[in-house]
Amino acid sequence: MMKKQGTAIYVHIPFCVRKCRYCDFLSVPWDSAKAEAYTKDLLKEIRQADWSRVDVVESIFIGGGTPSLMPASVIGEILEAIRINASLSRGCEITMEANPGTLDLEQLKALRRVGINRISLGAQCFQPEILKRLGRIHDDIAIEKTARDVVAAGFRNWNIDLMFDLPGQGMAEVEESIRRAIALEPTHLSFYSLIVEPGTPFYEEWEEGRLPMATEEGNRALYHHGRRLMEAAGYHQYEISNFAKPGMACRQNLAYWCRRPYLGFGLGAASMEADSRYVNPRDFQIYHERISRGMTVRELEETMGKREALSETMILGLRLSHGISMAALIRKFGVEVDRIRPLIAEQQRLGLLIPSEKRIALTEAGMDLANQVMMIFL
Ligand code: SF4
Repeated sequence: MMKKQGTAIYVHIPFCVRKCRYCDFLSVPWDSAKAEAYTKDLLKEIRQADWSRVDVVESIFIGGGTPSLMPASVIGEILEAIRINASLSRGCEITMEANPGTLDLEQLKALRRVGINRISLGAQCFQPEILKRLGRIHDDIAIEKTARDVVAAGFRNWNIDLMFDLPGQGMAEVEESIRRAIALEPTHLSFYSLIVEPGTPFYEEWEEGRLPMATEEGNRALYHHGRRLMEAAGYHQYEISNFAKPGMACRQNLAYWCRRPYLGFGLGAASMEADSRYVNPRDFQIYHERISRGMTVRELEETMGKREALSETMILGLRLSHGISMAALIRKFGVEVDRIRPLIAEQQRLGLLIPSEKRIALTEAGMDLANQVMMIFL
């Protein structure tokens, strides 16, 4: 019998206090009436979904947007709707994203009571002037206050999100942010480079030459320095941008990178089942209409053949420090794997993949050129 893989569930809350200047996520400014109507639709979507093929749920991630703007009782209703329809594994990881300053100790305690067992705190950096430039609503004091509340509320598994290559941020600022984040003792740290996305105010500034950013080498130097600091503090790098204390890697992240099935609920949420990818509408009105009519909300985006599925497995799996097991790849894709063997050998010769027959994983040099290596498998 095939070993069951477990399913990951994502729930999208598309509201924020206001839009950050670099953000291209699906989020709109908070509006209580809109949020109330959206919650009703979201609960209906979860109840109406076809759960018959869903395996045991290993992780749930409530992201956004800023889910911490929602009352804990609403988060509880969402989790209850999932629990009624699916079986959750023992110790199922249930994460909610939170932004500093948007919730207090009482709300955090209430979130634990309704079943949230992991918090992901969007700090980004600890310099108030840079946070202001990003359009974030919090400062460093708010980060530290919310982090202390997370711990005081009893969360034993929690993450701080950090970004680097932000305008006005040099080596000293990156180091200060990492040191202050580590001092708060989260179990997990994310460390992403700023990407300037089209359609954002930052993009306009960048086009006009008003956004100071590091050179490619400068960007890599910030990344290497950050990585060294986190590793030295006992945070093991398990993915290009993610670091965790032993045993505390994020299960939801791992589900995506290991290409396990996932089910997304809410505006714009994506799902993947049996090599088919689906996506929910990004428009509130269309989303509402489909749900009101009892229709399937999601639309089929693509069904992958073996070749595409293999490419995607390589691209996602290479993000992980331990990479991809050759035996697992052959079990899943059979002779199709022969097609990529010369590509692997070439990257090994260039020193970008580790020289192993059992595992396909990036070397340290390969991590710096990760996109380039991944594209070869497209
Ligand atoms: S808080 Fe996050 S999702 Fe909301 S606008 Fe800022 S970056 Fe985007």
